[in-house]
Amino acid sequence: MGALWSFIHGEIMDGGIRTQLREHWGLCPRHAWGHAFVDIELWEQGTATRAGHLPFDAEVLHEELLGDAVGAFTRPLSRRRLLRALARKGRCRVCVGLSGSHVDRIGYAGQSSGTLTRIVDQLGFTRELICASRGTWRLGMCPSCAWPGSTDAYALGSRPLLCRHHTSELLAADGLYTSTQERIASQLKAVLTRLRRHIETGSWADPNAQADPAAAWVEALGWTAGWDPVLAIAADCG
Ligand SMILES: [Zn+2]
Ligand SMILES: [Zn+2]
Repeated sequence: MGALWSFIHGEIMDGGIRTQLREHWGLCPRHAWGHAFVDIELWEQGTATRAGHLPFDAEVLHEELLGDAVGAFTRPLSRRRLLRALARKGRCRVCVGLSGSHVDRIGYAGQSSGTLTRIVDQLGFTRELICASRGTWRLGMCPSCAWPGSTDAYALGSRPLLCRHHTSELLAADGLYTSTQERIASQLKAVLTRLRRHIETGSWADPNAQADPAAAWVEALGWTAGWDPVLAIAADCG
């Protein structure tokens, strides 16, 4: 927990770490989602009626990562080079920090690490956010994450967007048509546009913003880190 807090409130802005994050496509799946959930649960200084409780840092990081992804699918890269571009390089920044011993016991803002962990574990704000925007993000979720093993998962003619990992698997096994690459680039660009709109407006409190842009961070993290945590949380939406 302490590692995620120090990450959210400092390290992420460092230029060298930013480069490492881009090369690794963000954080490992556990810490990518954990980073967003900690931000949603504990951030209380935001503007508008929601007063924070949005994954702002994760959104800003993923704005950059999605920009890289659009670039990778837009450039005429060979199959081998595209595969290399989609692979994670180096190690997860937070995993590296945690292996350094004491860091996870550090608290934040006068709260002990244990208290912060309990707040985050309840995931109340996160569940609310994910459930409210479910109707939108589920249209763009990776079918291979959502229905593992299904042969329909590679129905590439439809809107669903395979995540980075499953795109790489498909690319390694069968390659991608140029038209498929172009479609992926335009789908990623559409998510990026919605994500930017949400970052610019901070618009959860805006009645006209609705759930659409608020779903983009889920799709962005789903693409880089896979969809398992959000699917597990959404199972309780009712
Ligand atoms: Zn990690
Ligand atoms: Zn997937």
